[in-house]
Amino acid sequence: MRLISGHYIFTGREFIRNGIVETDSAGRIASLGSLGDSIVERESVEFFNGIIIPGFVNAHCHIELSHMKGVIPEKSGMSAFCKSIMSYRNSDADRQLSAMYEADKLMENEGIVAVGDISNRYLSIRMKKDSRLIYHTFVETFNLDPRLAGEVISMSKDIRRSFEKEGLRASISPHAPYSLSEKLFEMSVSEGNRDGIVSIHNEESIDEMELFADKKGKMRDLFGKNTDLFIHEYDRPIQRILKYIAPETSMMLVHNTHTNEQGIELALKRNKKTTWVLCPASNLYIENCLPDVSLFSKHKLHIALGTDGFSSNTKLSILNELKILDSAFPETGLQNLLRWATLNGAEALNLNEELGSFDTGKRPGILLLTDIDFKNMKLTENSRVKRLM
Ligand SMILES: [Zn+2]
Repeated sequence: MRLISGHYIFTGREFIRNGIVETDSAGRIASLGSLGDSIVERESVEFFNGIIIPGFVNAHCHIELSHMKGVIPEKSGMSAFCKSIMSYRNSDADRQLSAMYEADKLMENEGIVAVGDISNRYLSIRMKKDSRLIYHTFVETFNLDPRLAGEVISMSKDIRRSFEKEGLRASISPHAPYSLSEKLFEMSVSEGNRDGIVSIHNEESIDEMELFADKKGKMRDLFGKNTDLFIHEYDRPIQRILKYIAPETSMMLVHNTHTNEQGIELALKRNKKTTWVLCPASNLYIENCLPDVSLFSKHKLHIALGTDGFSSNTKLSILNELKILDSAFPETGLQNLLRWATLNGAEALNLNEELGSFDTGKRPGILLLTDIDFKNMKLTENSRVKRLM
């Protein structure tokens, strides 16, 4: 049993000044309260200078791409990025696996307790079984040749089965609105509807927006005439996702860098369980721009945070994503940001019975955030995270 206290406790929803959290011997939350205005020295209370928070949830990562750290040039746009990914994907399997183990350790040290991970092969199964983190694997489909749709989906089902056989959570999801034939897109979303959860890259780049709006541009040049088979049906990428998604499926829309009011309204009308997953460091890496977070806040959207993979990020740190958002959108406030980084991510991945907040009975992990600007309740450049449990 431990009694942990700090200047503030963030419960997953709000701050408690001089709060105190009690855990049982298994690390489960036994109680939550406040020491009151005066910090009295109580026997066996561990008091920390900083904010005590539940473990971070990384709602979007590509652990399979960990060997690509520092390989792809920054700020060269989405089409150039896709081209690089395709050429670096198949390198030595042992090297890929050891990069994954390293990335997993880094995330653990960064206070991450659960990951929504995009993988399209079997390779990460062993690492995920060995990990102390909880992974939900989205088995990702992509292929623009309609003749190969059946083959791709049956392979993906086999991968999903292999994860599940090892006791790991897995479901099938399409990569993005621009990288699948209509047939494969429909089949992939319907598998996701069956699994109850879909995670898809949405309106991430200017090249993608141009493909759908003008039916031409860099992405059309890269992917060729197979895109002509479906592109005339849609004006915006999100329309293609919404065509097949079931209203009750937990839908994670990732990036949303170019999402506007129209896209938000379309999604809210069609789906009741949408989470908008933001990966700001990756957006800066690829295109040097950020989503319109103020617009998302105005609509009170359900937002979670992801790091994306090492192919488009120099760190796998939710705290780093928070620092970027806190500095670019100061009006958001630390309370909202921390909720996005903890409880909302857990809710999106259906892990909120165990993770994301200090509710009694949960085992969410306990972190300490230090070097906070308490006067303005803001993160600083020097803010650090340490695992307490
Ligand atoms: Zn991604």
